[in-house]
Amino acid sequence: PKYVYEFAEGNKDLKDLLGGKGANLAEMTNLGLPVPPGFTITTDACRYYLENGRVPEGLDTEIDEKLAALEAAMGKRLGQADDPLLVSVRSGAKFSMPGMMETVLNIGLNDDSVRGLAAQAGNERFAWDSYRRLIQMFGKTVQGIDGELFEDAIDAIKQRKGTTDDLDLDAGDFKELVQTFKDIVAEHTGEGFPSDPREQMRQAIQAVFDSWNAPRAVLYRRQERIPSGLGTAVNVCSMVFGNLGMDSGTGVAFTRDPASGQQGVYGDYLQNAQGEDVVAGIRNTVPLADLERIDPASYRRLLDIMETLENHYRDLCDIEFTIERGRLWMLQTRVGKRTAAAAFRIANQLVDQGLITLDEAVGRVTGDQLAQLMFPRFDETAERTRLGRGMNASPGAAVGKAVFDSYTAIKWSRSGEDVILCRRETNPDDLEGMIAARGILTSRGGKTSHAAVVARGMGKTCVCGAEELDVDTKNRRLVAPGGQVIEEGDVISIDGTSGEVFLGEVPVVASPVVRYFEGEIDPASDSSDDLVRAVHRFMQYSDAARRMNVRANADNAEDAARARRMGAQGVGLCRTEHMFLGDRRQLVERLILADTDKEREESLAALLPLQRDDFIGIFEAMDGLPVTVRLLDPPLHEFLPDITELSVRVAVAESRGEKHENDLRLLQAVHRLHEQNPMLGLRGVRLGLVVPGLFTMQVRAIAQAAAERLRAGGRPCPEIMIPLVGTVQELEIIREESLRVLREVGEEYGVTLNYPVGTMIELPRAALTAGQIAENAEFFSFGTNDLTQTVWGFSRDDVEASFFSAYLEKGVFGVSPFESLDVDGVGRLIRIAVEEGRRARPGIKLGVCGEHGGDPASVHFFHEAGLDYVSCSPFRVPVARLESGRAAA
Ligand code: ADP
Ligand code: MG
Ligand code: MG
Repeated sequence: PKYVYEFAEGNKDLKDLLGGKGANLAEMTNLGLPVPPGFTITTDACRYYLENGRVPEGLDTEIDEKLAALEAAMGKRLGQADDPLLVSVRSGAKFSMPGMMETVLNIGLNDDSVRGLAAQAGNERFAWDSYRRLIQMFGKTVQGIDGELFEDAIDAIKQRKGTTDDLDLDAGDFKELVQTFKDIVAEHTGEGFPSDPREQMRQAIQAVFDSWNAPRAVLYRRQERIPSGLGTAVNVCSMVFGNLGMDSGTGVAFTRDPASGQQGVYGDYLQNAQGEDVVAGIRNTVPLADLERIDPASYRRLLDIMETLENHYRDLCDIEFTIERGRLWMLQTRVGKRTAAAAFRIANQLVDQGLITLDEAVGRVTGDQLAQLMFPRFDETAERTRLGRGMNASPGAAVGKAVFDSYTAIKWSRSGEDVILCRRETNPDDLEGMIAARGILTSRGGKTSHAAVVARGMGKTCVCGAEELDVDTKNRRLVAPGGQVIEEGDVISIDGTSGEVFLGEVPVVASPVVRYFEGEIDPASDSSDDLVRAVHRFMQYSDAARRMNVRANADNAEDAARARRMGAQGVGLCRTEHMFLGDRRQLVERLILADTDKEREESLAALLPLQRDDFIGIFEAMDGLPVTVRLLDPPLHEFLPDITELSVRVAVAESRGEKHENDLRLLQAVHRLHEQNPMLGLRGVRLGLVVPGLFTMQVRAIAQAAAERLRAGGRPCPEIMIPLVGTVQELEIIREESLRVLREVGEEYGVTLNYPVGTMIELPRAALTAGQIAENAEFFSFGTNDLTQTVWGFSRDDVEASFFSAYLEKGVFGVSPFESLDVDGVGRLIRIAVEEGRRARPGIKLGVCGEHGGDPASVHFFHEAGLDYVSCSPFRVPVARLESGRAAA
């Protein structure tokens, strides 16, 4: 096979073979853009090398041939003593893995050719600077020497000369550095720095191959779910020099602002420098617009090229370029990363410009991005003092008093204070404090740290790994790099979307996108933001394209109404347990404690009208749309007082000789109902079967509410849903009772109440026997939260806070299965149940309720699996609408 491609032989669609960088270098070459000539060694070669521990037969010959052609074209040989050709050896995989693999510049220099280079360029300093860069990069990347050793040597010279600027170093200094660097290499390798140019190249290529399996690259791929077998390509590219003087330089550019999406000139430029200096931040770059003044001809050429690239790729591109003595060279381009707002604006602009279709545009924005746009945000027009910045671990804007331990967080929040929990890092002991806090700030740990994982799971704002902030928990204070000291109780604001931390209270504003969904902003009006117009356009498109309906989880009329404004087409999950809380707890206690049928019936009778009125409100808010009501699910002990508190109360009363009959009965009930593992205990349909009258009361409340709505001229569409069914027999009993109650109430009111009764599929057994269950279920709703718990044997409440961060860090999974559906395991059960359910009862309605209903990746799976609808929290409804449309488009 062919292992080496000249740039001109490739194109942008060959990313599998040539990697992203190589494919795009080829594309630019063929567009006639000024790319320094070179060639790409394929990922095939890399894979062969990794599997066999040696490069494939013929690779070296092929490289020699391509190198010879390159030398002929350039009119000089690699490392030629009097006029050397120099090359860079650059890694480049199919998916960009930022900072994971490396590049070596200036290959071909040695003690002889450095003089040739100096003579040709008429610039000693440049030649020796290039040489020391080679030894430094080669030593670090290829020979595995700690980079700090080289940095320290540079710093030592700078210190001696009393400067911090590289530009103050002269040819003599670099000559000295070359010697020092060689000594470092010799000391650490025994072999020293190889002076043979072809040998330098050979080793650099192998080092790039090897870097594919470096531990950090392996971990990165595992977390990002990038297949480990892809391998990387290697690009060999003739050098151009930005470090030849002030008429040379290097920079990065974007064809549009990757932050806002606005058109304009964005980027950074650095005179007299080589590529990596721009990113390394050792010297201050100037805004790209300044290039117009520094080198107007190159600037105009660059803008032309940017336009060409954008029209060609039909998207925002980012670019690396170098100017060598007034001549512009393109070193890299790719379709660039962007913020959520930029993604929506750019896709919309490109449709307006006629560059892409609306269909393509919707393919380029994601539900995750839409979700980001919906978080409340800090008012950017307000005056803000930034204390520092960390990682944007969990989006949102939170304001509160800084506290430094969980205990204080809990105590203060109980007394009504908003707090931000500041920790160096969090651990499972901090859980309660995290729940109590408005937001969480840590100075250590990345996006898979405990704080980040748990905060995202709770939907709580979190900035993590803000290393520049010194969180001093012992002295209960936080010190910012600017010297500001935040004591316990001082107010701070944290922005989980940008990772910024501010002093004091920054005012929060609702996102314009949410105001649009709420109907407060008219997208057609001139004053509306172009972001809102983009969102509106894409939502309309998705709504027309999607096959699945989107419903919301709502337990009261207010949420139902809100969900409907957000575009929900019904309620997919109305949890009735929330109707048992508050003042009604007393009634539920009475029900649980009832000794006689009469007592029980009385307490049920008292609950009935309350439930009925709740349902009336919800049916009214969702008039004409289905409302799936789930009968009581949680174990009864959840409605009783806490066992410890109650025991103390009883003990105190006893010692004082006070009356405590009621508490004593309660305590006995708590003991009776206590379960080791309530998640797998007496709950769901099991309650319906063992607590006489409970489910029939609930069905009666639903039936009466529907009858009342019908009387009032409404169109109620309830669906009765039985939770936690494991076998069809359970369902059959409850279903018959339910149908009887519907008939009875219908007769009482003189109306026909013909409503579907169905079940949740949330136990593996239910999924596996879905064919049997479907005989007695008019619909299935996959309860993916419980199904995930029972399939994995994870108790969500326990594992997320305890070991999930470790699992994520080790790459056991890339994302929590509670956040994004486990397609291989849980998804397989869903497919089985869909197929068998449909076979047993063609036309059975299939939906999903649970957090996954609003998760973009999961929504795509549900679409593919053939579900009729997804149901999610009201706030996620737009996300599910967009993603269902994207899945169908
Ligand atoms: P990364 O993927 O980390 O950006 P690159 O391979 O793009 O690595 O190279 C690192 C830096 O070196 C970039 O700034 C790039 O523009 C510069 N560079 C790479 N090859 C050359 C070359 N042949 N001539 C000049 N600069 C180069
Ligand atoms: Mg690059
Ligand atoms: Mg459940």
